[in-house]
Amino acid sequence: MHEVSDALVANWSINNRVRLPSAVDLVCPHCGRKITFSLHWSGISDTLMSTTSRCPACSKSSVFVLVDFQALEASGDKKGRLFIYPAPNVRSPIEGITEVVDFSTELQRAYSSAVNVYNVQEWNAAAVLCRRLLEGIALSLVPEEKRRGSLYQQLQALPEYRDLKAPIMTLADAIRKGGNLGAHFDLEKEPNEETVA
Ligand SMILES: [Zn+2]
Repeated sequence: MHEVSDALVANWSINNRVRLPSAVDLVCPHCGRKITFSLHWSGISDTLMSTTSRCPACSKSSVFVLVDFQALEASGDKKGRLFIYPAPNVRSPIEGITEVVDFSTELQRAYSSAVNVYNVQEWNAAAVLCRRLLEGIALSLVPEEKRRGSLYQQLQALPEYRDLKAPIMTLADAIRKGGNLGAHFDLEKEPNEETVA
């Protein structure tokens, strides 16, 4: 069972004041292709709803479940949390990351956008968002006077202020080698799953 973020819902419908996702961009749990599942919900409940949808590529079915319905503040319509079974082979945000004091709401948003676009295999967008996230991290952790220079230089300076040498040096090196992949379109150097991961 894997929770599907609202950001991946391509279309909503409303039935009896309950918001229902009717199209969802996802990686098929069976064949791994990025597809749009059409969801048809029958009946209405504000406790639990389920439906199945077939992948247009491999024709295998996945189960979708809506639970934990809450009223939306703005409209009073109800909206549930969407889950898919089986879980697609995608990344989930690191557990407990919201508890990290230095990881601001803005950084959390940038991080979850990066995970979302990674999960729908938009490698260009994922590379751009990862870079933006790294810039945000550098901005919040590197003191102002050290913030000049490239992202590579800023990330290199980061271990002086936080004990995270190994992972950050690896990232900095990847950014240096990858150059401005993603931010600058280059036919020969388009980011792929390997670069972004
Ligand atoms: Zn499939």
